[in-house]
Amino acid sequence: DTVYLNGSFMPLAQATVPVLDRGFIFGDGVYEVIPVYSGHPFRLEEHLARLAMNLEAVRIRNPLVITAWHDACSRVIAANARLSDQSLYIQVTRGVAPRDQAFPRPDVTPTVLIMSMPLVTPGPELVESGVSAITALDIRWQRCNIKATSLLANVLLRQEAVDHGVAETLMLREGYLTEGSSSNVFIVKKGVLQAPPKSQYMLPGITYDVVLELAQAHGLPFDIAPVSEAQLRAADEIWLTSSTKEVLAVVTLDGAKVNDGKPGPVFRRMHALYQAFKNQVMRA
Ligand code: PMP
Repeated sequence: DTVYLNGSFMPLAQATVPVLDRGFIFGDGVYEVIPVYSGHPFRLEEHLARLAMNLEAVRIRNPLVITAWHDACSRVIAANARLSDQSLYIQVTRGVAPRDQAFPRPDVTPTVLIMSMPLVTPGPELVESGVSAITALDIRWQRCNIKATSLLANVLLRQEAVDHGVAETLMLREGYLTEGSSSNVFIVKKGVLQAPPKSQYMLPGITYDVVLELAQAHGLPFDIAPVSEAQLRAADEIWLTSSTKEVLAVVTLDGAKVNDGKPGPVFRRMHALYQAFKNQVMRA
């Protein structure tokens, strides 16, 4: 359980931050979750690029140069090599300062944490069965493209899913699908894959990009366009994508079956493509 905290490597139990850390006080920080398969981080450059963009968006100085990010991540991965697959968690907060909403003056040093958790991807049964989901109003703010640690709305929405005994909450804003509480959402209609375009209302998922790249590379027709609530409910297939869920089929929505209530053929194709791509990248 070795973690990286502010330049040092230490056991998780010894990693502590002051209560005045703005991450604790305000949720004033950004984060990344990176899947690591057999010691190989998947799409690390893309995750670090998104982290850099998020830091810029919230005006936190990027505390490490790119080589230092790579080095710190590698060392945390190596220290946790007993885990076959890892979920690497990076968090950067604005730092420690007396409680005041405005940025600290003079500037303070950002707090940097990198830790490793076991990566639990959906097993064959879940891939085969699919999962259930509910819908809810998207009650989040208007900067959902920023992967911020202030996740109270997501916490409440995800708990709604748990309270209903389902896997995910799909969010609707003004009658249109945005995303899941911790995933992006695709639908399939008449063989065409469809997903909402990137906007301030959803996180630009790394897995979302991978799925579209695979669709493009393998001649699967897709359409990046807003998905209305009616289109969502009439979809032949609904998928969730995220770094930890990979690609997962939703087979019931608000208690109603999606098509015949089984993961569809386009899902099975994409799931296979994703696994093959993942394995190929890992061997490279
Ligand atoms: N949307 C939200 C709100 C998320 O929390 C996540 C998971 N980080 C995603 C989408 C999927 O993003 P990614 O594919 O980069 O994991």
